[in-house]
Amino acid sequence: MSAASTAPSDTALLGFARDAATRAYAPYSQFSVGAALLLSDGSVVTGCNVENASYGLAVCAERVAVGRAVADGLLGTGRAAGTTIEAAAVVGPGAAPCFPCGACRQVLHEFGCARVVVEGEDPKADTPATPLSLPFSELLPRAFGPGDL
Ligand SMILES: [Zn+2]
Repeated sequence: MSAASTAPSDTALLGFARDAATRAYAPYSQFSVGAALLLSDGSVVTGCNVENASYGLAVCAERVAVGRAVADGLLGTGRAAGTTIEAAAVVGPGAAPCFPCGACRQVLHEFGCARVVVEGEDPKADTPATPLSLPFSELLPRAFGPGDL
């Protein structure tokens, strides 16, 4: 997606993630996940989980989104050096918040992820879930990252 003039709201980010989840390749777990990264340049990049018949090769939505952002030149090196992830929104199939797994937390930290947005518990199934925004340091405290090398 192209850079936006104004940053999308957390609700909008969750909507992008929810849309991405509809494209998940999850024939084995039926656990479709979508992620939407808001980058510091205003870009939004989405990803969905991609499973494999060799189960251990499944890749989570967050890491697919990061890989896509790097491959598209929006994150990583060159002119993207210094660009960070301002927010990572993640949506799972259930009503409970879907937090990134440990591996994804480490990968998100590599690119300076500032916070994670998930859907808060929804007391009424017919109303939109409330975005729950957490500082990344709460998800991966005392993280090892590029600054430690
Ligand atoms: Zn993961």
